[in-house]
Amino acid sequence: MRSNNVVLINEEGLRVDGRRPNEMRPFKIIAGYLSNADGSAYIELGRNKIVAAVYGPREVHPKYLALPHRATVRCRYSMAPFSVEERKSPGRSRREIELSKVIREALEPAIFVEEYPRTVIDIFIQVLEADGGTRTASITAASVALADAGIPMRDLVAAIAVGKASDTLLLDLNGIEDQYGDGDMPIAIMPRYNLVTLFQADGIFAPEEIEEALKMAREAIYKLYEGQKEALKRKYLKIREEVLSSE
Ligand code: UDP
Repeated sequence: MRSNNVVLINEEGLRVDGRRPNEMRPFKIIAGYLSNADGSAYIELGRNKIVAAVYGPREVHPKYLALPHRATVRCRYSMAPFSVEERKSPGRSRREIELSKVIREALEPAIFVEEYPRTVIDIFIQVLEADGGTRTASITAASVALADAGIPMRDLVAAIAVGKASDTLLLDLNGIEDQYGDGDMPIAIMPRYNLVTLFQADGIFAPEEIEEALKMAREAIYKLYEGQKEALKRKYLKIREEVLSSE
């Protein structure tokens, strides 16, 4: 089966990397990955490798940017020049500016911003290797970094994309599928409230496809959510063991 003249699903119904349509890539999440940030996390999702670092809540500079009733959340998503096959210019691209905004908006509903007026929470995301779905993997990592920074949150946020090729919905698109497929739908959810905090769609999807895509995304997001909680537990259990063994 062909999509845009590239075979994305073979006769056995398998994808270019051997996955079934509703199969996500293997992932790994590490909380507290960096020592110099207030909170941090690392995620690997297939070939994606992404680090998220959080600072704050801290004083806003310049001061006139401070909001009297809530914290300001800032997000900076950057791709390293070596993160993609064709060297990316180190300058800030329009895409990076857009993704920074989209990621911030997906995370903000989870943060109790009203508890920290006049402060700023900074989220820095560095993509070390990219292979499709970096915005969603960044959201998953950044929400662990926020929790690791001790920022009070309603819940974690986890995200995944669902796409389409040859009229088949594909969970968690890789780079080739993203490039040659017929559509891409990044979705972020706060699992405890079953609240969608990001929903984008590039391509044409029928209403039934959107419903099915949401179902596929939700299942994957619950797996990522378990991985996020495990990562946080691992870090704090390790600290507890260190404290106990030093006593
Ligand atoms: N990509 C690339 N060069 C770039 C930007 C993106 O090769 O300058 C690749 C990268 O693998 C990325 C994919 O294209 O993951 C899809 O990018 P998109 O803008 O759809 O965002 P994403 O799927 O990463 O959230």
